[in-house]
Amino acid sequence: MKKFEPQPGFVVQAFRFALDPNATQEAALWSHCGAARAAYNWAVGWVEASWWQRKAEESYGIPEADLTEWRPWSLPKLRKMFNEVKKTDPRFCGWWEENSKEAYSTGLANAAAAFDNYAESQRGERKGKTVGMPRFTSNKLLKRLSRRVSRRQGPAVYDPVTGRTTRREPSKRWLKANEDRNKVHHRVADLRTDALHKLTSGITAEYVTVVVEDLNVAGMLRNRRLARKIQDAGFGEIRRQITDKAGWTGGTTIVANRWYPSSKTCSNCGVVKAKLSLHVRVFTCDACGLVIDRDENAATNLAALAAASTTGTGLAGDPDARASKPRGADQKTRATRTRRTMDAGRAGGAVPQQRKETRDRHQDTQASRFGGTVTDLPGGNVRIAEA
Ligand SMILES: [Zn+2]
Repeated sequence: MKKFEPQPGFVVQAFRFALDPNATQEAALWSHCGAARAAYNWAVGWVEASWWQRKAEESYGIPEADLTEWRPWSLPKLRKMFNEVKKTDPRFCGWWEENSKEAYSTGLANAAAAFDNYAESQRGERKGKTVGMPRFTSNKLLKRLSRRVSRRQGPAVYDPVTGRTTRREPSKRWLKANEDRNKVHHRVADLRTDALHKLTSGITAEYVTVVVEDLNVAGMLRNRRLARKIQDAGFGEIRRQITDKAGWTGGTTIVANRWYPSSKTCSNCGVVKAKLSLHVRVFTCDACGLVIDRDENAATNLAALAAASTTGTGLAGDPDARASKPRGADQKTRATRTRRTMDAGRAGGAVPQQRKETRDRHQDTQASRFGGTVTDLPGGNVRIAEA
């Protein structure tokens, strides 16, 4: 996409919108993303097929002039070709009409740009890192490689009659396929790591105080419906990175106790619901009638908690306050911590004391090493650590 250049004398104001689609709209959005990806993958495959063909022909000693022609990768050419293919190719003909043609066009444009970048890079006309050949988008490649692995003779044999699995020596072809798959697997993981770092760096750069909820991730992973989503989001990792990075910049990370009912508490009147199912996305208060987005309600509560802790006047931040247990939260597993109080001073003031709990030690030491603060919230289990 071309960079937007404002006319002289004009100021550019950027707006960022969050989409709030209903279920049907969301499905359509996903479908269009899939369409763009499918078109992109088709274009990469179609163009590169001629490259592989030429390579093979060269190896047979066919003269340059007689080699199969390069397939073009300009957007108009790709579009023209794709419009013919989509009607007959079994990969598209059943469903291409369900999405806007712009979705496919986007995928094709991305492929064209990727080939342009690659060609420029090959000619030495492109600054920066060498650009590799356009690749299939990762999840498709991963699926394809996984299929290949499962078709080859692996180390385990499953006998459908006895239901037993026995070990055997895997074939060389299996080992090779498995290695290829693992490589892509790692690349996908790297992409995610990169995205996480960008997210957490952005958050800590923008905000001095960050509140992180100490969610029971291990427990949530046991919930099958949640597990996949949580693992993809890398919750624990997000929290760890934010705590570290806030420490580096002298920011404060506040960890809300996992029993603090951030979602169940009304951010207007403070009344706590006994239950709030996950699928209920809108919080409606039975006491004061407040109607608010579930996440916004939770965020408001956490912000109030943070404000209380950083000013030192609220119950959470005041080490001498005899705070009640979090309202309405059913505290099931955790024993109450030993109450610890320390003077909140500047960095380099008080010496951190040895603590008994090991659970949060990593984050605390990380943050305090760089002069940051980690506070555990709320209530009776108040702890303020400052190096
Ligand atoms: Zn209320």
